[in-house]
Amino acid sequence: MSQNSFPDLELTDRLAIARAGTAHFGRLLASLTDAQLDEPSLLEGWTRKHLVAHVGYNAAAISRLVEWAATGDEVPMYPSLETRNEEITSGATLPAHALRNLFDHTAARLDEKWRNLPADRWDFPVKTIQGRTVPVAETAWMRTREVWIHAVDLASGATFAEFPDPVVTSLIDDITNAWRRNGTGSDLRLNPPTGTIDVDPDFTGTRVEISGPAPAVLRWMAGRAQSDSAAVPPRWL
Ligand code: ZN
Repeated sequence: MSQNSFPDLELTDRLAIARAGTAHFGRLLASLTDAQLDEPSLLEGWTRKHLVAHVGYNAAAISRLVEWAATGDEVPMYPSLETRNEEITSGATLPAHALRNLFDHTAARLDEKWRNLPADRWDFPVKTIQGRTVPVAETAWMRTREVWIHAVDLASGATFAEFPDPVVTSLIDDITNAWRRNGTGSDLRLNPPTGTIDVDPDFTGTRVEISGPAPAVLRWMAGRAQSDSAAVPPRWL
């Protein structure tokens, strides 16, 4: 584990970073005109409207997990992967004002669920859409990843350099672990200033080295730097 990583923080600080990310995304969204929402995001095949719909529905899905922890009655994040995808496709056809409302409303609802969850319920196990069982406190990280990365994907000036340090550190950890689980990226050596990471320490061939400030290394790892890098990172989600 790296120093100053997200899971090392107190719950209140983790929630504060998630909320700050939502506010950051919200400010960027507010700075875009309705017409600009029909323009492409950084995500292949998605307009900004797709992205706003996804981030809004993501808050609703995470709220369901918090609700599950509060009541003990199992509710899935999404009924199915198809439902999740259909929701985004149809959401992207909503008028701009409806999408702005969706973003605000779902974010406020998630915040309310978090505020009302009793202190002794934060270890309650819930299931992510990938089928992983995690304590509901993990929803702070799930939301943090979404809002900070997708703020960049809005393609309106946000950068990885604006991420809080623990978010950068923990995303680098997350992506490295995903590659290790998938058996991909074995030849990669990451060189952020915080310390070298070999994705596969036993790899004996020629390593591809990715160096730079930690946010730049992360940006490459997250697949958001294709335009200025020859190497292509493995998928991580
Ligand atoms: Zn997402």
